[in-house]
Amino acid sequence: MNEAKNAAKLLVVNPTPFLDSHCKPDAAIFLGVGSAASAVNLGCSSCVLTSKGLPWLLIDCGFDTVSRYQQHFASLPDAVFITHLHYDHVGGLEQLYFQAALSQHQITLYAPAELIVGLCNILAYTGLSEGNCGVWQVFRLFPVSDSFMHRGQRLYSYPVRHHAPRSAFSLHLPGIVFYSGDTKAIPEILHHRVCNGEMIFHDCNLSGNPSHCGLNELKTSYRADLHKFIRVYHYQHKSDVTAFAAADIQAVVAEQVIAL
Ligand SMILES: [Zn+2]
Ligand SMILES: [Zn+2]
Repeated sequence: MNEAKNAAKLLVVNPTPFLDSHCKPDAAIFLGVGSAASAVNLGCSSCVLTSKGLPWLLIDCGFDTVSRYQQHFASLPDAVFITHLHYDHVGGLEQLYFQAALSQHQITLYAPAELIVGLCNILAYTGLSEGNCGVWQVFRLFPVSDSFMHRGQRLYSYPVRHHAPRSAFSLHLPGIVFYSGDTKAIPEILHHRVCNGEMIFHDCNLSGNPSHCGLNELKTSYRADLHKFIRVYHYQHKSDVTAFAAADIQAVVAEQVIAL
């Protein structure tokens, strides 16, 4: 009897089953392209892969991502992949939870397995005061080890070079797109795993530092034939786009539709 009641409660939370339609993304739209320091002006770096104009997968959810997503798509995402636990990449998850819980929407949350304990700690105090709709009823947590299936496609995730070892991860859909997440240059990945003409979205700022790739580092770390596939994001100033272009590196601008 109790089980039937619980099942009915779950249906209230999730009135329509998640439709895992099989298709590949054909474009990407960045909702923001800034760093933690420049997010106020450029938006937190986050990217929506889309298929035929519809959202396919959101990558990262910073503190302004939910409002930017709603402005663009007039909806909430069905699925989010988290690259790492810095707040310009996960600071919007609490807002996303509340919006989803109050509109009876359920969201698949893909997170690299190493990040799960930290993610649980970040969301430990998140929940409705009524206590009837916990955070993990709204977020369907999907731990990612090396790869996972999403809408019929297998995506891979590799650790990158950002702060502590194995604390930040990239996302790769072979033949279509590679998303670096926050990182220094990672030739060991790009030269050995990303070999099929993928569009490469890469963290980069003009000067570089111990956490993030710099323009000179980008140009000297990767084979010249890869440069044309690279689009940089997570930079400091709007005007940096011109400096990247002068160095023959293209930068992403928020809201621009990029064909994959
Ligand atoms: Zn960041
Ligand atoms: Zn970071």
